Amino acid sequence: MSEPQDASPPEAAEHTTSDPQQLQFRTRAIHVGNEIDPQTGAVVPPIHLASTFRQPGAGEWGEFDYSRSGNPTRSRLQQTLTSLEGGCGSLAFSSGMAAIHCVTMLLESGQHVVAGCDIYGGAYRLLHNICSRSGIEVSLVDMTDLDAVAAAIRPETKLIWGETIGNPLMTIPDLAGLSAVAKRAGVLLGVDNTFGTPALIRPLEHGVDVVMHSATKFLGGHSDCLGGTLSVADSELFDRLYYVQNATGAVLDPFSSFLVARGLKTLDLRVREQSRSTMQLATWLEQHPQVRRVLYPGLPSHPQHGLADSQFSGFGTMLCFELEGDFQQTARVCEATKLFHLAVSLGAVESLIEQPASMSHASYDAADRERFGISDGLIRISVGLEAAADLQSDLEQAIAAGMAGG
Ligand SMILES: *Cc1c(COP(=O)(O)O)cnc(C)c1O
Repeated sequence: MSEPQDASPPEAAEHTTSDPQQLQFRTRAIHVGNEIDPQTGAVVPPIHLASTFRQPGAGEWGEFDYSRSGNPTRSRLQQTLTSLEGGCGSLAFSSGMAAIHCVTMLLESGQHVVAGCDIYGGAYRLLHNICSRSGIEVSLVDMTDLDAVAAAIRPETKLIWGETIGNPLMTIPDLAGLSAVAKRAGVLLGVDNTFGTPALIRPLEHGVDVVMHSATKFLGGHSDCLGGTLSVADSELFDRLYYVQNATGAVLDPFSSFLVARGLKTLDLRVREQSRSTMQLATWLEQHPQVRRVLYPGLPSHPQHGLADSQFSGFGTMLCFELEGDFQQTARVCEATKLFHLAVSLGAVESLIEQPASMSHASYDAADRERFGISDGLIRISVGLEAAADLQSDLEQAIAAGMAGG
């Protein structure tokens, strides 16, 4: 028996068009930007592959004209993200690095960036080896030390760049404190919230000017696409960033936009469940005789545990631990896991393991690795959606295998 057909044209659900911000995060992740397709009633919006759009007349512009400047599939993703971040607008890029690069392109020759001393390796490389070519200087400081951040600001400083959870040392900066320092100095504050995710923290609510994500990680969530995003609270800043993005062209393609939008629908669920497993592993690792220390904001032993507890609604799925072992033993442990894949990247349903000194942070100078405590014995894991007990057994056998023999 066929279902009765509704003759009236499909419309977007009433509640999503009235005031979607009244709805809870999880609901918005599923409904905002995913309104019913008016032409077909499809509950999943179509992917628009067109590179160009017919214009109403010569010199007249419709909502869309050329796909680099605007694409309906990308627009919908940006709309979802803006709703989740609580900003005025978002932009989706071809990668996380393209998103960070867009922010740095607001700067001119002779200007200066104050960045965290445990930032993503790629951001370190961009600032030191690429932005430097345009005469932009960078100083690295401990973002958990507000006095040090304030002291590093010069008259030519235009940007403070931090991470909501530092990488790989899991440091937690005080976002409201950083925002106060930035506002006092008239400097833009940007944070990379890839590790934090909008499910656990929304930096715009803490006074941050621009929040960035590698959508490759949690937003996509399945290790099957590359992407990056920026969200901002101020429309003038949005316009400046949009101008740079459109002028330089590193936009997210329609198919990847669809994949990230699909990932967002389960973001909250994934991050909370994976965080629960991470807490379990952190607690177990902290008792392990061959583990020197565990860096996880959820542990009371973490130096910024109290701040993390008040700033985040969960502690995340990223954890670092330091073995009582040398470079070779650490590498062998990383190679001995069976469920945790030895790979860079993070934030997906499958668990990953890596050695920052030889992998994610290999682009740091050896001297900077040493200076900032990125030791050879450090291991970073991204905890996925597998059963926590299976992950624990896997780590247990890998530590035993890797450390044996010395
Ligand atoms: C992966 C990552 C990036 C870069 O993103 P891509 O999508 O790989 O370009 C930036 N910051 C953090 C914290 C990351 O993990």
